[in-house]
Amino acid sequence: MNNLNWVDLIRDIPDFPEPGVVFKDITPLIGSPGGFSAVITDLVQQSPKAIDVVVGMEARGFIFGAPVALALGTGFVPVRKPGKLPGEVITTSYELEYGTNSLSVHRDAIGKGSRVLIVDDVLATGGTIAATANLIKELGADLVAVAVVLELDFLGGRKNLSEQGIDEVIALT
Ligand code: IMP
Repeated sequence: MNNLNWVDLIRDIPDFPEPGVVFKDITPLIGSPGGFSAVITDLVQQSPKAIDVVVGMEARGFIFGAPVALALGTGFVPVRKPGKLPGEVITTSYELEYGTNSLSVHRDAIGKGSRVLIVDDVLATGGTIAATANLIKELGADLVAVAVVLELDFLGGRKNLSEQGIDEVIALT
């Protein structure tokens, strides 16, 4: 970590979005010029450099993924909720505690064999990252690593991802 202790700028919001959940709110972090710059610097430093494309998921993955892509000199590909992307898409669904979620990506956004870095804010159960990894695989690209700002270890996301063959998981905190 660089000299600004940006971790202190992530705040806990109890009982959001529902009672009993402590939500990690990154808005003070991204609202701080020094904090935002420091967390992006750390993400870039810890990520592999031989990458062709950075993929970020709606919505907070966009905030961290796009500046990482700029710093690595790659393009940025958004993974979005269904109905948001205008071109031809592929879509995958995954289970939530209650119900399912779906994510889409443009079919022509990532070339076969491209080396991909996924960037998101929080690794919780790993469902969002696993679903994104499925999209990347379906496009014939190579997921090199996943980088997140924050890992909630008690939710077991790293183990869940490892069971799907995703072992390169970088979490800053
Ligand atoms: P997962 O799919 O269970 O790993 O949840 C990760 C996704 O949910 C990420 O895209 C996060 O943006 C979001 N998320 C889950 N918990 C939190 C939190 O405490 N703060 C911010 N985002 C969260």
